Amino acid sequence: MAAPKVYLSPAMHMANPCVYPRPDGKQCYEALENNEYIDILEPILNRCGIETKRGYRRTPMNGDNGNAIMKQNVRESDAWGADVHYVSHTNGSADGKGNSRGCYPMYYTYSSRGRKLGQIMAKYRRQIYPRTVKLVARSNLYELYKPKAVSFYEEHVFHDNMDDATWFHTHMKEIAESAAKGLCEYFGIPYVEETKPAEPEKPMTPGELLVKIMNSTGTCGTWELVK
Ligand SMILES: [Zn+2]
Repeated sequence: MAAPKVYLSPAMHMANPCVYPRPDGKQCYEALENNEYIDILEPILNRCGIETKRGYRRTPMNGDNGNAIMKQNVRESDAWGADVHYVSHTNGSADGKGNSRGCYPMYYTYSSRGRKLGQIMAKYRRQIYPRTVKLVARSNLYELYKPKAVSFYEEHVFHDNMDDATWFHTHMKEIAESAAKGLCEYFGIPYVEETKPAEPEKPMTPGELLVKIMNSTGTCGTWELVK
């Protein structure tokens, strides 16, 4: 069986500021945080045997046209022949004051496979997210109705709510792992756990070095003892 293909389409908005006080001191934005999340998700999917291609990394507040980026991502996804088009966004509160919290991912109303994928993804998110996870059907969003692939549209948290934004930034690895588990279940393939360093056969002596030798793509490696 050919490897399943997931196109990763990160948020491409100009602004949409996020309230989380980043350790690096930079202002956070929806496009920035979702690209950081995709950076974590992509190697996890690859270690599970899922092929990935990712969309344009938009720098917040520059002159790029977000709408054009979104359309370009969908064209790439279609041309590549993705099985799943995975959109990664964070939400903004309806009142604009950051009073909303919760996870409201979306699927295309008229796609039964999209609904099935969405239900699986929501099931895994509920295992890690402490607040409401509600799958929502939408028919009028470009990245739901346009891609040839089955589309799934994350709205991980509300980036203008401090509790929600903080949870997102401090749980990106768990979120990515839960998304990977959902995609593996959807494709009917086993989820591959992170490789832990192998225990040396003999006890190590002070001064010995255990090094990880990475493969050419840097996605996995083997541990070797240096004498
Ligand atoms: Zn953020």
